[in-house]
Amino acid sequence: MAHKTYHNIWELKCPVCGKNFIPAAEHIYNDGESAVCSYHCGLAAERKKEAERERRRNRKRIPPPPGRDDEIRKRISEGESVDKLARVYRLTETRIKQIIKEGSPEE
Ligand SMILES: [Zn+2]
Repeated sequence: MAHKTYHNIWELKCPVCGKNFIPAAEHIYNDGESAVCSYHCGLAAERKKEAERERRRNRKRIPPPPGRDDEIRKRISEGESVDKLARVYRLTETRIKQIIKEGSPEE
């Protein structure tokens, strides 16, 4: 969101605090996306980004619905094929095989 000031210098709006500033080399704190107005805002932007990354990682680690793995193992033992179950449960065949292995054999 850059616009030229009457000084004919690029002025930027800090994405963190909303302040307009003239970017100097020491203001480019960033991470390759947008310049921020100060070291302080650079840290804030970095923290926000880190929190976002963390959230994304956590989203991936959502545990499967309870009983799903047992269900998969049961269907395998009933003769369903790995590739069919992979399609049904939207998992890779490798994951299905892992789930089968994880099942406790002594029941
Ligand atoms: Zn700022």
